[in-house]
Amino acid sequence: MAKLTVLTECPSSTEHYVADGGWIVYCGDDRLFESHLKAREKMGKHLDPFVTLGGIQQLASPEFQSDREFAVRQLVKSRKFHGTQKVVLVAHFNCGAYKDAVAGMSREEEVDFYMGELAKAKDFVLYRQPDLKVIMLFVDFDNIYTVEL
Ligand SMILES: [Zn+2]
Repeated sequence: MAKLTVLTECPSSTEHYVADGGWIVYCGDDRLFESHLKAREKMGKHLDPFVTLGGIQQLASPEFQSDREFAVRQLVKSRKFHGTQKVVLVAHFNCGAYKDAVAGMSREEEVDFYMGELAKAKDFVLYRQPDLKVIMLFVDFDNIYTVEL
């Protein structure tokens, strides 16, 4: 029998929820932990996060096709379990997962590169789930921006 020891108390709701804030995709880069929390707060009360190192890269430019399929399966589960109607795609400046792709770029060029990745991720999401609303955000180390392409 396993021994369970309380690390800390953490009471949580057991109520079912609808992910009114959507399925949010962002990078697990800890430097931007607070930014991603703020972005979540702006989107709604409940969100289903899909957090990986690289975030939208799994949808836009996956290392393996299976990464993309895993992401889509997670989105489908979010829709099934929590009635998700929108997807929030978050790209961030200076993402380590894109280090080689953006090497030598100016800040402006790098931002443009991430806009392209957001567009690719959005196109893929809408190709697979055309009835969803897609919101795009960009995070740098000062602000969270809404993105329109
Ligand atoms: Zn990153």
